[in-house]
Amino acid sequence: MTENNFNTDVYYDEDADESNIEDKTVAVLGYGSQGHAHALNLADSGVDVVVGLRRGSDSWDAAEAEGLRVETPEQAAAEGNIVNMLIPDTVQPHVWENIEAELDAGDTLQFAHGFNIHYGQIEPPEDVDVTMIAPKSPGHLVRRTYQRDEGTPGLLAVYQNATGEAKAEAIAYGKAIGCTRAGLIETTFREETETDIFGEQAVLCGGVTSLVKAGFETLVDAGYSPEMAYFECLNEMKLIVDLMYEGGNMEMWNSVSDTAEYGGLTRGDDVINREAMDEILEGVQNGEFAREWINENQANRPAYKQYRQAEQDHQIEEVGERLRELFEWGEQE
Ligand code: NAD
Ligand code: MG
Repeated sequence: MTENNFNTDVYYDEDADESNIEDKTVAVLGYGSQGHAHALNLADSGVDVVVGLRRGSDSWDAAEAEGLRVETPEQAAAEGNIVNMLIPDTVQPHVWENIEAELDAGDTLQFAHGFNIHYGQIEPPEDVDVTMIAPKSPGHLVRRTYQRDEGTPGLLAVYQNATGEAKAEAIAYGKAIGCTRAGLIETTFREETETDIFGEQAVLCGGVTSLVKAGFETLVDAGYSPEMAYFECLNEMKLIVDLMYEGGNMEMWNSVSDTAEYGGLTRGDDVINREAMDEILEGVQNGEFAREWINENQANRPAYKQYRQAEQDHQIEEVGERLRELFEWGEQE
């Protein structure tokens, strides 16, 4: 492990021993956001890769066109010494039923998110390693940075270490997809899963959209134009978040006007409900949210469809569609 100032272990290229992966076959199940990036990066790093897809999947030809070998998930898992579940989390338990018998003692079952292991939806046999390599980035960036001899940071976790080599193999895998160029941060399945789900509910996906909508509605209800409300509450969000991403909250405070800074520092906390956040975290920790979501999927997602429709029908969507046209001239990437 390389010396660092983090509160946890971080692994870089020099910590990886490629002999832990070079004679192995990696079965990448799925060829979506993460799947295509892992498969192509592994192959470019000289690792033997087989992609596992359903017959008739659109991705089959796409993967073959990139020179990758494609088989059914069952066949790929049978060939793989490392079987990586890069299919949607809600689908993984069903695919697991079909491939479970294909894992041999000493094989590795690998994930990029801990949901199904942490909440007991997949129960691997005791004689396989269970690890996680989770790039902290969407797949297209995992691929693009690798091609530029750069990498995206990632998380590393070991849930089950049957062979005694689980961690060394995971680090070698992390190197082969480029993550150790930027740093592989060690965590646990529990920590990754719970912080990930809490974050997307309370802050990122849920928190931020609810904040934007509430601000928009407050201005519109008070008689201001929806266009102004859209600019102030949604469009400018990106400018602020870009500054936070670049240099933390202080970079943002330093870049906005003193009026914005004083007003924000004195009023911002008023819109936050810490008790509600604690409750959300509790629901993540005690498995209540996971149970709800698993049941929702088993029932063919009735509530999900309703919430989604309501979001689509919100006035901010219609306003945004018109206003974003004004910005098309400035679009980059
Ligand atoms: P995705 O939705 O982009 O891709 C899904 C792939 O799975 C597609 O190729 C699809 O054809 C295939 N698939 C669907 N059903 C299948 C089946 N029954 N059998 C075989 N293949 C099937 O998925 P993703 O976003 O790359 O997510 C994969 C994993 O990576 C998840 O565990 C996710 O939580 C995790 N993850 C994703 C990101 C991200 O940025 N998208 C980041 C970190 C971790
Ligand atoms: Mg196998």
